Amino acid sequence: MKKFSFKGGIHIHGSAAKKALTTNSQIIIPKDPEYLYLPLNQQLGKPSVPVVEVGDQVKAGQLLAIKDGGFSANIHSPISGVIEHIDFFINEPTGQLSKSIVIKNDFSNQEVEYISRSTEDAMKLTAKNIVDIMEESGLVGLGGATFPTPIKYLGDKKCSAVILNGIECEPYNTADYAIMKNHCKEVIRGLKYMLIASGAPKGYICIEDNKMDVYETFRQTLSGDTDIQVALFKEKYPQGAEKQLVSALLNQEVTYGGLPIDIGVIVNNVGTAKALCDAVELGKPLTHHYLTITGNVKSPSNYYVPIGILFKDLIDDEDFDKNNVLLAGGLMMGKTMYTEMTPVTKGINAIILLEDLPKVGPELQCVRCSSCIDNCPAFLSPTNLAQLVKNNKYDTLNEYGIVACIECGTCSYVCPSHIPLLDYIRHGKLELRRR
Ligand code: SF4
Ligand code: SF4
Repeated sequence: MKKFSFKGGIHIHGSAAKKALTTNSQIIIPKDPEYLYLPLNQQLGKPSVPVVEVGDQVKAGQLLAIKDGGFSANIHSPISGVIEHIDFFINEPTGQLSKSIVIKNDFSNQEVEYISRSTEDAMKLTAKNIVDIMEESGLVGLGGATFPTPIKYLGDKKCSAVILNGIECEPYNTADYAIMKNHCKEVIRGLKYMLIASGAPKGYICIEDNKMDVYETFRQTLSGDTDIQVALFKEKYPQGAEKQLVSALLNQEVTYGGLPIDIGVIVNNVGTAKALCDAVELGKPLTHHYLTITGNVKSPSNYYVPIGILFKDLIDDEDFDKNNVLLAGGLMMGKTMYTEMTPVTKGINAIILLEDLPKVGPELQCVRCSSCIDNCPAFLSPTNLAQLVKNNKYDTLNEYGIVACIECGTCSYVCPSHIPLLDYIRHGKLELRRR
């Protein structure tokens, strides 16, 4: 059986045990809270612009904020209630403060009238119809990148394939696995709508070999379907990174600063395909999504939650009290949060609580072992990048390809001298953005 892989990368110690915490959990739907906090910049690009005012009564599914130009996304209400604030500053999972719309739940569960259609009718929609639905429903990349989805389908470059990313290589995360296990047919139909939207003749669903059960389910469900192929990948980190995925599957490289469409492909996450299926067939905008809550907690599980729910409304007080580290996103690429008053946004697919981060010693001298270079999936020299940042030589960082860093953390993970290479690189990127 052919298994795809990429050059570089690592095997994360104990990954199987970390995933096993939630692999077989039921999907929990929590009680709706009294308040939801919806940041206006939860997508890559410009913040959305509110179309409601304080005091307005809203229904679930109602548009709250409209996209500001092409590179932005609509935001809809997950509940019915009253708008209490539209300029409330809250700490986002990215670590930034963001203006948010605050809704007080009235618990009447009133919904807007969704326009649903049968699968048969949906398959007759045009490319434009489907891109319009992506725009209206506020669809963004749900793998964490939050790139507004319609933009990928709007250019005039020819698309030869749509690749669905079901790799989920972060060691604790299993929300995508839960989506694939419980919603295989919706994911496939979502991909079919993406094929219509892109005009591509071929679709791929990419799954790592640590999820053989869902690989088999997809293979059996798609037997006889010549348009879509299920592709199996060797477990390796960061196999789910977009450029590494394309390189492994098609043996083609997306250049520094380029996009997959430059070589004729579009990559979307399996969660995005499921959300598109809901938008096309049920008429439902993106108001809820899946995430894993795990680590040192009483009941690690996967959840289906309203966007805007606070971490504090999802996690037991005791679990907070016994842990010192709160991570949003993932162990490797996530960010540590200092407060549980942080809302779930469209891009957050895991909340992890740990007593402590994996032990790292004090930073030592670089021993020039080249491990960071050998394992960097972007073929960079992390040690050189870190040295440049330490010596304030920011002008030279671009020559060393800093923009190609996907912030996977592999270099920091393998460094025997405990040099926080990724921290230096992130600092360098921030400094370049400030200039
Ligand atoms: S330099 Fe960037 S891409 Fe390379 S290993 Fe480090 S974090 Fe990953
Ligand atoms: S892994 Fe660490 S010690 Fe080895 S070359 Fe890179 S920075 Fe230096």
